[in-house]
Amino acid sequence: MRHIQADTVIVGAGLSGLYTALLLDPNREVVLLVKTALKESNSRLAQGGIAAEMNDEKALLKAHIEDTLNAGHHLNDPEAVKLLVNEAQENINLLLQAGVVFDKNERGDLLRTLEGGHSSARVLHSGGDATGKDMMDALQRAVKKRKNIRVFEQSMAVDLAVDENEVHGLSVLDKHGKTVVFSANHVVLATGGIGAIYAASTNASIATGDGIAMALKAGAKVEKMAFVQFHPTAFFKPKDPTNRRFLISEAMRGEGAILRNIAEEAFMVKYHHKKELAPRDVVSQAIHREMYDTWSDHVYLDTRHLDETHLETRFPTIHKELRKHGYILGQDLIPIAPVQHFNIGGIKTNMDGETNLKNLYALGECASTGVHGANRLASNSLLECVVFGRRIAQAINQNPVEKPSKTATFSYVKAAFFHYSPIRKKIRFIVEEYAGIVRKKKGLLQAERELTTLLNTLRSYPNHTARYYETRNMLLIALNLVQDALKRPESIGCHFRLD
Ligand SMILES: Cc1cc2nc3c(=O)[nH]c(=O)nc-3n(C[C@H](O)[C@H](O)[C@H](O)COP(=O)(O)OP(=O)(O)OC[C@H]3O[C@@H](n4cnc5c(N)ncnc54)[C@H](O)[C@@H]3O)c2cc1C
Repeated sequence: MRHIQADTVIVGAGLSGLYTALLLDPNREVVLLVKTALKESNSRLAQGGIAAEMNDEKALLKAHIEDTLNAGHHLNDPEAVKLLVNEAQENINLLLQAGVVFDKNERGDLLRTLEGGHSSARVLHSGGDATGKDMMDALQRAVKKRKNIRVFEQSMAVDLAVDENEVHGLSVLDKHGKTVVFSANHVVLATGGIGAIYAASTNASIATGDGIAMALKAGAKVEKMAFVQFHPTAFFKPKDPTNRRFLISEAMRGEGAILRNIAEEAFMVKYHHKKELAPRDVVSQAIHREMYDTWSDHVYLDTRHLDETHLETRFPTIHKELRKHGYILGQDLIPIAPVQHFNIGGIKTNMDGETNLKNLYALGECASTGVHGANRLASNSLLECVVFGRRIAQAINQNPVEKPSKTATFSYVKAAFFHYSPIRKKIRFIVEEYAGIVRKKKGLLQAERELTTLLNTLRSYPNHTARYYETRNMLLIALNLVQDALKRPESIGCHFRLD
């Protein structure tokens, strides 16, 4: 077994991981682990932008705080929300210094757009609808220039080394399937979302909830997994063989796009006074209802009344993707349906990203910092990655730089080949069916039983391979999600109980 020592190991190189790494003192040895390739992350897929008030005017900051609390149905931690909003500007400035370029008008002012749930236009964007890609390209360039940061691609973190509630390293499977053990003073989990456990999701394929499962196994607290956000407008393709769906940004509705059912009736007026710009939970649940009432598996996004040239310039990525499928923005009704999009719950942390295990931090989509409550306000998640990334870096930087005092150890056995994909398919079916946009106690209990049976089956066929660990992680988080949903008999935010 290869052994490597580092001051800090960050698991994940999405926006959270890259940004945290860049803010750690340059005299610290930092390792960034990437499960597959750097280009695979939810961060890279982000279109709409990053919510941030770029001045200190109290009324504007207060409005962003209120919008976040209202979207979250006040299940948010108000202190975390205040930090998120008040520390936005300084973090955007750090992103600019790191080379991120946000869209500007001819006068050089940052352009801002409106999205659902926001009371004013405060969402900054880059490359029109390529915010995530542009941010990731800039931060990856910045990381490459830093001598103290070593990036290990095709390296999947498997288990944490934990001793008396203290984490001191982790095990990793490298691209050859060999085990590498890292001993570290600090371990940061930044592994992203859980989209792989649903039959349809906007998430990147790496989103199998690994960090959350590793934390659960190690005894870290995980909370609010019932709160799964469904994005209202994913492009609908009948009989799509994969679970990946292309997202059509909320900003499109910010620019005036209208939702229509299959009878082409605009329906949002029946559900919320803000119509298309209601918070996401309301819009997804309204679409779900319309699909149910009209016996349809999709509704439409209508941009036919909007300027085609403006749409093409403002949303170049979406325009290009839809064209591939024969749809033109500004001319055609676009078929859409809600799908899994964002994981609100996760590893419980305090305001400095610390978990209940010493030396273990978490941030980004795998963490529950308390900012989102029962439903995330659009474009607050990229902001959460940077605000808490900086806080974690500051907390770690306060510690002396020294060699890790403990050596992590693990033992694994290779077993016979086993085909895990039937189990993964079943997980997706069960979770989508019983823990989707609408839930019932009976269905959740059924899901709990079926997932437990699958977990027992899987445990009879362990193997030291990435496929085994991903499947294990999917089952652990799916069970946790269903059990959390069972504990919440009342509908709130994106947890919608029919019974
Ligand atoms: C299509 C789409 C559009 C979105 N648009 C917006 C938007 O406009 N605004 C907004 O605020 N939010 C948006 N979001 C949400 C936002 O992009 C994510 O919540 C955020 O980027 C998550 O960042 P992250 O760093 O936590 O995770 P990710 O960016 O997903 O990165 C996860 C990293 O962890 C690594 N990893 C995972 N497991 C392991 C393992 N076991 N070992 C090693 N490495 C591992 C991966 O390789 C990857 O590098 C969008 C999400 C999607 C999917």
